[in-house]
Amino acid sequence: MPETDPSISPQCVRCGSDALIPDAFFYAEGYGGAKLSVGVYKKPEAALMKGPVRTELKLSVCGDCGHVEAEAADFRALWAAYVERLSREFGR
Ligand SMILES: [Zn+2]
Repeated sequence: MPETDPSISPQCVRCGSDALIPDAFFYAEGYGGAKLSVGVYKKPEAALMKGPVRTELKLSVCGDCGHVEAEAADFRALWAAYVERLSREFGR
């Protein structure tokens, strides 16, 4: 039977458990709880003004098997920056 409930609880991609902790964070021992981001450059070839676009990295931890999953918070902003870079590279 197809699942029609839109409020499906997230599941661990490794073991299928729904015991997922959605707001874990990266902890650098000795440096406190560092918040991490992922990013892309719009102009990686530029010496300066590379146009970095960053977004927070969201971590989930499975409470049953310990699998850690990372997800970019604003992945659409990263994709938009990447597409902009590609369109310029191929537009030469
Ligand atoms: Zn798991």
